[in-house]
Order: sequence, then C-alpha cells, then structure tokens
Amino acid sequence: MLAAKRTRPNTGLKALLDLPERLAQALVERLGATTPIGQLADKALTTIEQRLADWPFHPNCTEGFAKAEVTVGGVSTDALSSRTMMAQRVPGLYVIGEAVDVTGWLGGYNFQWAWASGWAAAQAL
Ligand SMILES: Cc1cc2nc3c(=O)[nH]c(=O)nc-3n(C[C@H](O)[C@H](O)[C@H](O)COP(=O)(O)OP(=O)(O)OC[C@H]3O[C@@H](n4cnc5c(N)ncnc54)[C@H](O)[C@@H]3O)c2cc1C
Repeated sequence: MLAAKRTRPNTGLKALLDLPERLAQALVERLGATTPIGQLADKALTTIEQRLADWPFHPNCTEGFAKAEVTVGGVSTDALSSRTMMAQRVPGLYVIGEAVDVTGWLGGYNFQWAWASGWAAAQAL
C-alpha cells in the first residue's frame, strides 16, 4: 500500500482492493479511508493494511441447504488412478466429480472437474 501511495497517490483505497465492489466500498467506509491514498499518512496506511489482513468476520446466517456447497471431503485422490479414476483397491469401481476429495475455486472449476473426471473414467470403460 505504501508503494502504491508513491506511484498512484490519487487512487482511492477501494480501487486498490482486489475485492467485489460492494465489499470494498463497505470496508473503505468502515475504515474511514475514503480519501485518495496519497492523502493518508504512512502510519495510517500501515494500520489500514493490518486491519484488512486481520478483519474479524462473523457470518450471521446461511442461505440454507439448497444453496450449500461442499468444498472438501470425498474419496482421496491417493486411492484412485489419476488416468482412469478407478479405485486402486476395488477394480471396476470408478469415482468422479463431487465424490472425489477435490476442491475447485468458484468459477466453473468444479463443473470442469466433474466433466473431465467423468470423461476420463468413461474412456476406461
Ligand atoms: C448451489 C450450488 C452452486 C454451484 N455452482 C457452481 C458453479 O457455478 N460452478 C461450478 O463449477 N460448480 C458449481 N457447483 C458445484 C457443481 O455443481 C458440482 O461440483 C458438480 O455438479 C458435481 O457433479 P457430479 O456429477 O459429481 O455430482 P452431482 O451434480 O451432484 O450429480 C449427482 C447426481 O446423482 C444423483 N444421485 C444421487 N444419489 C443417487 C442414487 N442413489 N441413485 C441415482 N442417482 C443418484 C443426484 O440426484 C444427482 O443428479 C455448485 C454447487 C451447488 C450446490
């Protein structure tokens, strides 16, 4: 942030945060850092940086089971052939997609994994 202050002093803190627009706006308002970073003292910027890195976060609800996404768990990849997805110890049993302990970032990677692992298994059948 201090480096950005030197090179882009007219930039707002919000623009520096690689976060969704509304989240960045809310954080900037909470921090009271709405002026361009060039107008903030180095010490204030360092404090802001520390607060952002250690922001306490308390979700107040979930969107329920219909929206729930499991991100970990399932059959270990160690137990499967990476070429065919067949279980090493149970010949003829193939495990793909969500049933495997593979975690993808949001953005289509889980679909990609489900399709790609399914395709790999299908080639071996
Ligand atoms: C709300 C939500 C949003 C998501 N958004 C994204 C996203 O944007 N991008 C992304 O990449 N991934 C997303 N995912 C993850 C993605 O949907 C899964 O990783 C992917 O669908 C897994 O595919 P799969 O074929 O392994 O399992 P599933 O799609 O869960 O398919 C399993 C199928 O088996 C059927 N089944 C279960 N038990 C039986 C049984 N006994 N007999 C017969 N059939 C049975 C089920 O009805 C289901 O149709 C999302 C998941 C959720 C829950």
